[in-house]
Amino acid sequence: MSITQTLPANGSDCAPVLNKGVLRERGQREVFCGLTGIVWLHRKMQDAFFLVVGSRTCAHLLQSAAGVMIFAEPRFATAIIEERDLAGMADCHDELDRIVDKLLTRRPEIKTLFLVGSCPSEVIKMDLAKAAQRLGTEYAGQTRILNYSGSGIETTFTEGEDACLATLVPEMPVARPDAAQELLIVGALPDIVEDQFLRLFAELGIEPVHCLPARRACDLPSVGPNTRYLLAQPFLTETALALEDRGAQRLDALFPFGAEGTTAWLRAAADAFGVDEMHFNRVVAPGRERAKRAIAHSRERLEGKRITFLPDSQLEVPLARFLATEAGMIPVEVGTPYLHRQHTARELELLPESTRISEGQDVDKQLDRVREDKPDLTVCGLGLANPLESEGFTTKWAIELVFSPIHGFEQAGDLAELFARPLRRRDVLRV
Ligand code: SF4
Repeated sequence: MSITQTLPANGSDCAPVLNKGVLRERGQREVFCGLTGIVWLHRKMQDAFFLVVGSRTCAHLLQSAAGVMIFAEPRFATAIIEERDLAGMADCHDELDRIVDKLLTRRPEIKTLFLVGSCPSEVIKMDLAKAAQRLGTEYAGQTRILNYSGSGIETTFTEGEDACLATLVPEMPVARPDAAQELLIVGALPDIVEDQFLRLFAELGIEPVHCLPARRACDLPSVGPNTRYLLAQPFLTETALALEDRGAQRLDALFPFGAEGTTAWLRAAADAFGVDEMHFNRVVAPGRERAKRAIAHSRERLEGKRITFLPDSQLEVPLARFLATEAGMIPVEVGTPYLHRQHTARELELLPESTRISEGQDVDKQLDRVREDKPDLTVCGLGLANPLESEGFTTKWAIELVFSPIHGFEQAGDLAELFARPLRRRDVLRV
């Protein structure tokens, strides 16, 4: 095994199944694997390190997606499983212990080390849970060592973040049974967006408010029956289950995209914490109005345009709701890798009746539907964008929606603009 400073996974087969108005497909899919989450998680968790136990392909994916950090000490790396590891000529666990030892001796400031599983570590059935336990005992008091899978066999694009946060939940301290009600924002947000939300909650008089993930490991918040949590991202199924196992209760809300989504998200917390309606309106109105004005700049370009989302990040349903209700777009098909009906129930209610919802993917059939529907804009992964553009379709890379700050009032205009830009480019090229 050697260390270095990452491609997509494909799935299986079968015919589409219509399930209560949702087209369910289980065929070949074109989605990045869960390792991709490391790109934004390593920036967010400033004293954590992500050690992927994988192949050179995993290393290339990570390096090209995250860019090369020249001046900073990196916070992720790949322990490469070499041929001799695969051939059973070396004990992978000994090799991993040696790498972790080297890393933590040189970088004692690492407070949480994630051992991240990949397709190769799964194929050779390397038990990373056991490794994390063994190493965790050895480095107790210095570094918390956890593991999760980012493998393309088990996870898609944003599920890596879900798996990572779910491993943190059992590490959260137990809240005192008589503790006052606390709010927990769940999901990695860019610091600037997180700070905006924290300011708004402070103005509303809601406190204390914590975030998962916390920026530093030592700030991992406590959790218990008095915890009320708001999901900032729609792809955190396992994390939500783990929190509920610890007694936390989810506040049901729209996701904070656009003026209305953000207002509804804040309102769910305000209602749970007994904030007076007039005070809520006083605090929220300026941001909401700014967001509406910013969205209006793009509305002319978006209104009446038909849009299709191919399944990618699980952000598709709330984004389609935002575009339909606040920008006047017509979602034709909204595809998502997995549909959490409970978490997205309010979003689904606001989509037009005519919108086709699909879960999972059978890429050839889905592309046939795009050709038949002829949407004005198709949101899809990198691998499908170029072929579709060559057929004359206008596309938007779904990955940009994950890497750009798009939550909250102040980002609502930029979010609308992300969809308006490809349509503007198309119109310019046509002229
Ligand atoms: S985890 Fe699997 S799908 Fe992801 S980069 Fe590594 S080999 Fe490819």
